[in-house]
Amino acid sequence: MTKLNIRNCARCKRIFVPVSGEKICPDCRAADIELEERVKAYVRDHPGITVNQLIEGSGVPGKIVWRMIMQGQFENSSLRDAKYPCANCGKIITRGTYCVECADKLKTNAQKFAAAMNSKRKRAAEKESSGKTFSDSMYDAMDSARNR
Ligand SMILES: [Zn+2]
Ligand SMILES: [Zn+2]
Repeated sequence: MTKLNIRNCARCKRIFVPVSGEKICPDCRAADIELEERVKAYVRDHPGITVNQLIEGSGVPGKIVWRMIMQGQFENSSLRDAKYPCANCGKIITRGTYCVECADKLKTNAQKFAAAMNSKRKRAAEKESSGKTFSDSMYDAMDSARNR
């Protein structure tokens, strides 16, 4: 049984068949790549410019330029000011969504949470007659993961 995977392009709404989970259609993707190439060429031709100068000079939407910055495409390049605050603590970073410390912390929390969920679930399954419902245990697990 094969389910035909089709999807509406998140940008132009046209229906397309995603190959590996893309959210936009090949046409929109090609347009993106063209813009990204324009941005890269602009940085190459104008060493030492700031992000704003890049956005204004290249005519490429700031959204795309910032996405490229967050993907780390300008690391070690001559683009100045490619800095923005960590989404969690506000520390200035140059790539990704979080600073190294927050990314670490979030990863650890997610692991603790998963571990707590697993042990609670196991215990809940072991003593189903202990009085607590399964969802009580879920909330306990979430609380203990949060308070640690
Ligand atoms: Zn599209
Ligand atoms: Zn942070």
